[in-house]
Amino acid sequence: MNIESLLDPVFAGTVFRRLAIAHSAAITEKAGNRVILRIDASVLRQIAFEAFHDVNFFFRTTHLEAWARILSDPDASDNDRFVVAALLKNAAISAEGILPSCQDTGTATIIGLKGEGVSTDADDEEALSRGAAEAYATCNLRFSQVAPISMLDDADTRTNLPAQVDLHAVPSNGPGGGEYRLLFIAKGGGSANKTSFFQETRALLKEDALDAFLRDRVRALGTAGCPPYHLCVVIGGSSPEQNLTMLKLATAGALDLLPTAPPAPFRDPAWEARLLAHARESRLGAQFGGACLALDARVIRLARHAASLPISIGVSCSAHRNALARIGVDGVWLEDFDRAPGRFLPRAIDVLSRASAAARRIDLGQPLASVRAQLAGCRLGALVLLSGPLIVARDAAHARLAALLAQGLPLPDWFLRHPVYYAGPAATPPGRVIGSFGPTTAQRMDPYVRSFMAAGASLVMLAKGNRSPGVVDACRDYGGFSLGTIGGAAALIAQENIVAEELVAWPELGMEAVRRIEVKDLPAFICIDDKGGNLYKA
Ligand code: SF4
Repeated sequence: MNIESLLDPVFAGTVFRRLAIAHSAAITEKAGNRVILRIDASVLRQIAFEAFHDVNFFFRTTHLEAWARILSDPDASDNDRFVVAALLKNAAISAEGILPSCQDTGTATIIGLKGEGVSTDADDEEALSRGAAEAYATCNLRFSQVAPISMLDDADTRTNLPAQVDLHAVPSNGPGGGEYRLLFIAKGGGSANKTSFFQETRALLKEDALDAFLRDRVRALGTAGCPPYHLCVVIGGSSPEQNLTMLKLATAGALDLLPTAPPAPFRDPAWEARLLAHARESRLGAQFGGACLALDARVIRLARHAASLPISIGVSCSAHRNALARIGVDGVWLEDFDRAPGRFLPRAIDVLSRASAAARRIDLGQPLASVRAQLAGCRLGALVLLSGPLIVARDAAHARLAALLAQGLPLPDWFLRHPVYYAGPAATPPGRVIGSFGPTTAQRMDPYVRSFMAAGASLVMLAKGNRSPGVVDACRDYGGFSLGTIGGAAALIAQENIVAEELVAWPELGMEAVRRIEVKDLPAFICIDDKGGNLYKA
């Protein structure tokens, strides 16, 4: 099983567009008939730049169409339809090329298959990383990577590097042996955090046992990875590393064209249907309850050591950002994305308008006690429209706020007076109020909630995804609320809902600095209320 053979079908089946890059000169080696493709390092840099630009602003047509099908899915809930309508509108905004589709523009991952008939005379990893860094620095994306400055502390690298670059040599007579093939992936933290790995045994390979295992794992996924997901399971593998490599390729859609019957590796459509059924039956829905947790499923079976049964599960999120590329004697080619998501807008806007007309408006400009009273009058799961100030703070700021409490110091007034939005924006484009600015995963802030609520803060929280039982209890004990807004709709939120922004504290934290924003009619769902209600358990 080699990676070039695994990926060859998707390279053959992908529609590429030719990039206007003066790429290389193919010269015939004097010693024989072999054609050597010489590629300048600048070509690697440019193709990485173009790929990370495109994946952050455009989607595959199959991804958009899968969202659109939910609009007319008879099993979809109103919440499912509202979420995908927002994601479709978000896609139309990001396709304008200014606001990336999600604020978490991801870790740059590059898998390269370099044919033996290719010569670069360069440090390929360095050239590809440089192209990625240029895209993150100049295309209104976000620097999300931190590097350790000590064992217990990190700092933003301010480049979005390091990228993860995995390069493989391909024999000249192998698939793609005469060219340079690349897979670019920009995976967000919320999506990556949904990867789970298990060392199981042969005992699990019984129909009932495997089915129950998959059902439980699907339910455990939750919604913090911004569903509807492309859901993937890999069973088997010669090592944990091989299993997880296959999972990475599967979530990128790169194994979609595997055979559907043994010998391994193969996809199993019957188990994929079961996985999809479990996703539907979980009722987690596309973020706020419903049938549409997953768009599709892949279950891949590999050979294994008789004593091991590695199993992994993972997702690709609503920001499904994967691009194939190839450099050959015929030019430099990048996967062609859908440039016209606006065709879905009429149906999406109809869904959004009707839901918004029925939603209750919440005035965040009132004292916090009044905001909580307004929320207390809404049912669990209700869609509300938020207007007024929010404090934006996430992981690093929460750690500093907790340190203040630990030292016996008071929490800052700005943290006590306003609801908190867990988020960190992408770069602000010229002339805009703010860059793409969707929610981050709520659960990472769960350890802080009880102590902050006891100190009078975090009594209204806004983020994405389900939360731990401790947060449900804290909301009940202190009269708090945890709201969810749509993950993956960051361009839409930036363009339509955020009307003002100012830096409040700790600018050195980069995208994690504390901000005060003013929102207008920001859609949110009541996920946990002050009575102990929890949408994800309802
Ligand atoms: S859509 Fe959600 S999970 Fe995906 S990158 Fe954006 S915030 Fe992260």
